[in-house]
Amino acid sequence: MLNIGQTENFSKMDKSQILAKFSSDPERYYKVSLFEEKGFVRKSCTKCKRFFWTLDQTQSFCPEDSENNYSFIGNPPTKKRFDYVQAWKEVESFFVQNGHKSVSRYPVVCRWRDDLYFTIASIVDFQRVMGSKVVFEFPANPLVVPQTCLRFKDIENVGVTGRHFSSFCMIGQHSIPNSQGYWKDKCIELDFRLLTEKFGIDKKEVVFVEDVWVGGGSFGSSLEYFVRGLELGNAVFTEFGGDLNSYSVLDQKIIDMGAGLERFAWITMGTPTAYDCCFGPITKNLIETVGIDVEPKLLQEYFTAISKGLRESTDLTQVRKSATKQTKIDEAKYNKIIAPLEGIYLIADHLRTLVFAISDGALPSNVGGGYNLRMILRRVIATMDRFGWNLDLKELADMHIDYLKSTYHELDETRNDVKTIIGIERERYGESKTRMKGIANTLKTQNKMLTVDDLIRLYESDGITPDFLKQEQIISEIPSTFYERLSSLHQSEKVEKKEILNLDGIPDTIALYYGEDPAEFEAKVLKVINKKFVILDKTSFYPRGGGQEPDYGKIAGFDVVDVNKHGNIIVHELKGGIPKEGQAVSCVIDSKRRDEITKHHTSTHILNSSSRNVLGSWVWQHSAFKEEDHARLDITHHSALTKEEVAKIEELANAKVKENIPIIIQNFDRGTAEQKYGFRIYQGGIVPVKSVRIVSIKDFDVEACGGTHVKSTKDVELIKITRTKRIQDGVVRLEFVAGKAAREYIKKHAEELQKQLHEKAVKEQSDKLREQRKQESREKIPALLRQVYEPDLIALKDNKIYVFEVKSRKFVYTANDHYDEYFHINFGEELVKHDPRIVYCGVFEEGGKVRTIIHAGEEASKQNKAGDIAKAISQILGGYGGGNPRFAQGGGPNKSKKDEAINKAKSMVLE
Ligand SMILES: [Zn+2]
Ligand SMILES: [Zn+2]
Repeated sequence: MLNIGQTENFSKMDKSQILAKFSSDPERYYKVSLFEEKGFVRKSCTKCKRFFWTLDQTQSFCPEDSENNYSFIGNPPTKKRFDYVQAWKEVESFFVQNGHKSVSRYPVVCRWRDDLYFTIASIVDFQRVMGSKVVFEFPANPLVVPQTCLRFKDIENVGVTGRHFSSFCMIGQHSIPNSQGYWKDKCIELDFRLLTEKFGIDKKEVVFVEDVWVGGGSFGSSLEYFVRGLELGNAVFTEFGGDLNSYSVLDQKIIDMGAGLERFAWITMGTPTAYDCCFGPITKNLIETVGIDVEPKLLQEYFTAISKGLRESTDLTQVRKSATKQTKIDEAKYNKIIAPLEGIYLIADHLRTLVFAISDGALPSNVGGGYNLRMILRRVIATMDRFGWNLDLKELADMHIDYLKSTYHELDETRNDVKTIIGIERERYGESKTRMKGIANTLKTQNKMLTVDDLIRLYESDGITPDFLKQEQIISEIPSTFYERLSSLHQSEKVEKKEILNLDGIPDTIALYYGEDPAEFEAKVLKVINKKFVILDKTSFYPRGGGQEPDYGKIAGFDVVDVNKHGNIIVHELKGGIPKEGQAVSCVIDSKRRDEITKHHTSTHILNSSSRNVLGSWVWQHSAFKEEDHARLDITHHSALTKEEVAKIEELANAKVKENIPIIIQNFDRGTAEQKYGFRIYQGGIVPVKSVRIVSIKDFDVEACGGTHVKSTKDVELIKITRTKRIQDGVVRLEFVAGKAAREYIKKHAEELQKQLHEKAVKEQSDKLREQRKQESREKIPALLRQVYEPDLIALKDNKIYVFEVKSRKFVYTANDHYDEYFHINFGEELVKHDPRIVYCGVFEEGGKVRTIIHAGEEASKQNKAGDIAKAISQILGGYGGGNPRFAQGGGPNKSKKDEAINKAKSMVLE
């Protein structure tokens, strides 16, 4: 059950057939020397017929069907008690004493395989993809590893069954049977001795059950070992390739023994659940904080019943129901003890998973594996809300790390980053909850069946998780296909469009760019396809790859417009003509273009590490693009970048440029590179080759990369971030320039800045002047009024104020652009107050429009209403106007019709 490292084409039919075949020849497949020496007997279970090996002659049931299963709860079969951390120390020391190397765990984020988000079994650590094949690379033989594994499939069981976790430690015992390693006999002997000698379990308690393993095109026999019905481990002997009809012995046989550390701790402690002994002080602390009155006897009975019940049914509701009935727990007691305990277990488990995942650089988001992390964090918060608990999640994360750091010291280094991310996520969820509740209420009133598509849409557009909908009782169950569908939506990477060419029989191209890298070279044309594609025996043209754009240049005088790699064959696309097959041609690459692309590529590495240093350990390269005159780097980060963050990143990057650090390129065996530099080298994704090219800028940045690089950081000259943008949840884009493009950018922006400053100064000057004039005009109002009253026609003309009088009607207007709205309102008002026969018309420009203000004196307004005049003027100006009989305003955009408009007003008043 534990080993699911090799998934794919799993067929139950095959499995039972293989098991039948192997079990029909137990001497060949299952009988190990230990069974012979100790006198194990082979039996067939009376109930399920499975074959098992035991020292207890009286036993007629397999461990899972045996009466005493789970009887270790409250009565452990070991002399010693080991909690989680101590249990690993015991296991580790046993295997090390017996010639194994203890290897540190690999990251839980599976950076070395692109078909898995998370490490799901210890064997995955050593699997590497080569083309369509999975190969094994072991850093030592034999070895043992405490591998943290993440599995989200049985999430509903976590906290409830007593033994399901969203992350657990798989004790991986791996061996290749060669001069250093061993095969079945030694493996089972060691596992038996581990249980009996180290853990002090009685020999008669250990039972081995015959089983088989099938997956990934290989299969073999396996022995699961149990103590009191609890499967502690499963030793898989991967031995054959093919299927049952046609198979052969593998070149590289492998022992894949996986055991659950949580279960090792549980069996020695005999606590009601494994959760009680695997989270250090956390479970107890939470029980006290929340204040549950635990009754140990009752819990023992209840969780034993749950464990036994799960053998009969997988329906959790049913299992819970019958367990409460058996142990006579009424509803009140259930709600007071069991339900909150389940909540505590869930919180402790989910937080531990988050600690590992975030520490290894994963971010909660709504894409890919990040979805699972966001989901479990929201489950934690939802559980707290449901019970009204106010727990400090950061403090709990601290407690996890403190407890685990003696085994996993790396957790201590990322402690603050883990807490930062948990804090941000919690805050975000809080902010979105009100909105989510609103949507949930609408859905409730609509009362319609939600399809998986609906759920995906709700999640993608509104961030509403199905867990939330379940909690709000809008859906009763989360459809099993939901998570799968959601991941597949986000999994498909953009596939580079490449023409499919027939390249049969063409040898691999010799890549000169990894060697002397000449800008000019002679080569032989091996093949011409479709009158535009040319394949040479060797080339210096760098093909498009890893986000780096291809080289341009000339082959035999014709333009090279694109270069792509098809397997190990490099294909040049030419324009304007093509050489002949067999011809020797001279080739020249556009070095200027290549140099600038190269500067951008090295800058990507510098910026990537600068971002991680400034922002946090969760920063990984998501993708990158490097052209001659610009580049971009997408990094994993939780929020949009602030101006300060961008400035800091740029500053650090340019400090590294100034330091003039030499860039060292070395080839390593993949396993060696991983051991030496860790998995941070896989910034650009997995590397499907045995030898990896490591590009290092001292220890500031070390990456596996196939691109072209400058010799020393100073060669990139300058790095300038031109724009940043949050392009999706958890991913931020940095657009930047380096080298010549950066110099030009700075120059252009300096000019622009200069221009802007100048324009600003000019405008400020004219604004000031206009303001000054207006002020002067306002101050002149009393004097001007006197000039109208007297009237002083010469002075009025100087001030561009015109007075007309026909019979007893008076029309006064001005279009002097020194006068503003304030002037016209006040001047006009005073004027008509003094002489009620006056109609005053002020015209001025403002905001690109002509505006007018009309005052009509009491007498004048009986003849012509101010509103009518404003309306008429505005019509001519192409706009709208209106008001009351005494005061109105209006205007329009047609500046050229200003005079016509004034004449209209004048004629309305005087004629
Ligand atoms: Zn059985
Ligand atoms: Zn690179």
